[in-house]
Amino acid sequence: MRYRSTSRKAPLTSLRGAVLRGLAPDGGLYMPVEIARHSPKELEEFRGLPFTEVCFRVVRPFATPDVPEEVLWQIVSEAINFPVKLVSLSPGLHILELFHGPTLAFKDFGARFMARLMGYFVRGETRPLTVLVATSGDTGSAVAHGFLNVPGIRVLILYPSKRVSEAQEKQFTTLGENITALEVAGTFDDCQRLVKQAFSDAELNRCAFLTSANSINIGRLLPQMFYHVAAYRQLPVASVPLIVSVPSGNFGNLTAGIFAKRIGLPVAKYVASTNANDVVPEYLLTGEFHPRAAKTTYANAMDVGNPNNFPRLLDLCRNRLEYVQKEIWGHGVTDEETLREMKAIHDRFGYIADPHTAVGVLGWEAFKLEHAEPAQGLVLATAHPAKFADVVMKAIGTAPPLPDRLATYLKREKLSLAISSSYAEFKQFLLAN
Ligand SMILES: *Cc1c(COP(=O)(O)O)cnc(C)c1O
Repeated sequence: MRYRSTSRKAPLTSLRGAVLRGLAPDGGLYMPVEIARHSPKELEEFRGLPFTEVCFRVVRPFATPDVPEEVLWQIVSEAINFPVKLVSLSPGLHILELFHGPTLAFKDFGARFMARLMGYFVRGETRPLTVLVATSGDTGSAVAHGFLNVPGIRVLILYPSKRVSEAQEKQFTTLGENITALEVAGTFDDCQRLVKQAFSDAELNRCAFLTSANSINIGRLLPQMFYHVAAYRQLPVASVPLIVSVPSGNFGNLTAGIFAKRIGLPVAKYVASTNANDVVPEYLLTGEFHPRAAKTTYANAMDVGNPNNFPRLLDLCRNRLEYVQKEIWGHGVTDEETLREMKAIHDRFGYIADPHTAVGVLGWEAFKLEHAEPAQGLVLATAHPAKFADVVMKAIGTAPPLPDRLATYLKREKLSLAISSSYAEFKQFLLAN
């Protein structure tokens, strides 16, 4: 498969080029030049095959000829080594739990797959690849775990001191090995600025082989099709249309959903469910896209004011509002509504939803209120409730059970290095290491 830029000014490249670069040289995002449909017969077969085999068949057209089949098979089977669970709350409402990976959030799918793919692409390189990531919490842990012990790659995670929760911090500062956490005396914006400056520093890039691992990387997006297929395999066969509600921030998850629809999955519509950061629902309503500074909410992994995958969504919908509206319906909610919904879900179904998942359920319910036709709803559950224990406590009055994985990290010792927010100091560190 060849990859093009959404801005269409950069040359076509291979999957290797797209994954190692991240962003296209014209500032656009990489897209496959085509998305081939699977026939209804092939899709039917997906129901009966082992999940690894299905993931392999889904991603193969996107990775050929860059990645030999046996390597791709190994990448898929190592990366996706945890289950996707479907929980049916009622006959018409299903929850797809994407949080059974090592860091208890859906980002494990993308990060684990991309890490192994990059590991393959840099084999034989003489210089190690340095992955720079700025994180406000969740991305750091998924990326750190994804790359842990991948040969030829080291990871530097920059995070704002005292501005991430202890559970988040412990998940990416205690690993050691090829993962280094830099605790920056500053804000998340400072961390992002340091990373951006490093990428545009010509002198530094001559000495070091740098790349990024944020959610615009196509290597993180492709494996996010897998769980949409997992849902298709597990959902009861129904005669009514399927509506998929996606709790969204940077819109990588929803973009992957549209990819999954393009390869043939029967989805009638996606719901873009957001917190108060509702620039996309607003766009769907008014046709105007106004990125703005992010607001802080309880569903903080979706506190994004300028969703970085938006150009891909437009590109998939031929840059026309009416096509975007055909695929996606949007709904934004407040923190109060989120808390109330977490309590309502717990009261009605005995199910503990994390705040992001509750935003997704609210999106589905709002859709249903405005659309009378029968439909079944699927809500993506993006994080384990224990990752947001304080919000859960506030909503339902009890703490969610703490999974062993998280408890283990909380006991470990933090290994981060403190740095100031000055670029000169950061550059010095990069050059010295
Ligand atoms: C990252 C994240 C999201 C948002 O996903 P996008 O692909 O950025 O839209 C939602 N929920 C959780 C828990 C996340 O970590």
